[in-house]
Amino acid sequence: MSSIPADSFGPAARRRTRQVRVGNVLVGGDAPVVVQSMTNTDTADVAATVRQVAELWRAGSELVRVTVNTPEAAAAVPRIVERLNMMGVEVPVIGDFHYNGHQLLANEPACAQALAKYRINPGNVGFGRKRDTQFAQLVEFAIRYDKPVRIGANWGSLDQSLATRLMDENAQRADPWDAGRVLREALILSALESAQRAVELGLPPDRIILSAKVSGVQELIAVYRDLAARSDFALHLGLTEAGIGSKGIVASSAALAVLLQEGIGDTIRISLTPEPGGARTQEVVVAQELLQTLGLRAFTPMVTACPGCGRTTSEFFQELARVVQEHVRAKMPEWRISHPGAENLTLAVMGCVVNGPGDSRHANIGISLPGTGEAPSAPVFVDGEKTVTLRGDNIAAEFVALVDDYVERRYAVQPGG
Ligand code: SF4
Repeated sequence: MSSIPADSFGPAARRRTRQVRVGNVLVGGDAPVVVQSMTNTDTADVAATVRQVAELWRAGSELVRVTVNTPEAAAAVPRIVERLNMMGVEVPVIGDFHYNGHQLLANEPACAQALAKYRINPGNVGFGRKRDTQFAQLVEFAIRYDKPVRIGANWGSLDQSLATRLMDENAQRADPWDAGRVLREALILSALESAQRAVELGLPPDRIILSAKVSGVQELIAVYRDLAARSDFALHLGLTEAGIGSKGIVASSAALAVLLQEGIGDTIRISLTPEPGGARTQEVVVAQELLQTLGLRAFTPMVTACPGCGRTTSEFFQELARVVQEHVRAKMPEWRISHPGAENLTLAVMGCVVNGPGDSRHANIGISLPGTGEAPSAPVFVDGEKTVTLRGDNIAAEFVALVDDYVERRYAVQPGG
């Protein structure tokens, strides 16, 4: 924790982009950076997809994308959206199309109507002359149903005809670029030229979001800096195929943090490979924590905890940090309505007297647990003042109760308020 004012070193002002309405969510312009996620269920399985979309939404995903790859998936989409509406899950559902999107939308008008946005990959729309025709058909559906589109280029499915054209042009240069630069340019141009074509076909620029995803951190930063400098379309950020576990989290955070710090990015997704049996919602939690630790948004009270060292040989403080973080995360959906502002609460769980009281004082509520050989007492600090000392076997439950009391006193919506 630091007492240095954040505005002396905070993120650059957000780069101003055109604002796009996606269902009930605004992306770009002066809207906060939006968190989105994607299901990994078979979209044709209505029950499983509804369940996962609802889980992602409850975890805080503000947009959820589903793959629409078969006639069965397209037929399922309106039923999925209807069930979500009946459950009160008000999250825009986005359709991810590759290869056959033009046919699926033509054959399932109810799917075209139910989706809040279409994602089009310009590298996977079709080949040869069919590419232009099928791209135009997708854009015409977006115009007819008044839907925004994300034109999402991807390193793994780069438009090969465009890459070949740029390679040929590069060969004519007096001082040719290296192959990596040519391919980055191809990715950027794929997004920009496709957007231009969509505008020429009649799609308003404020119905277009761009992305150009790669799997390398430095490449992603270079591509998005360029994309941001060359257009004012709203941008969706994500490191594609980020990977599993800590590697995926670190790589995504490293790339997106640099761009967000520079004011680039209007919506983000963390493309984590889930651990076997792991929760799909982890990608939402990571996206929220990234935005919150950068100081861009607040979603859930953040727990500062020390790493522990030889001064504390018990695992109790680690356990307490976990219990407190899980408690506030579980309470947040309710607090968001009943106690708005609780997401800004700061908490500290510290392992011993060295930094414990100091860091605890900087939090709204902090507890300094006894290290090895210290007296078995845990002073609690509320807004910088020591208020109570906890002892005995019930410290975790008593500290959580103090957190709940604080939230009630400070953030409860007053009657008539
Ligand atoms: S607060 Fe104490 S236990 Fe925690 S890391 Fe610092 S010295 Fe170690």
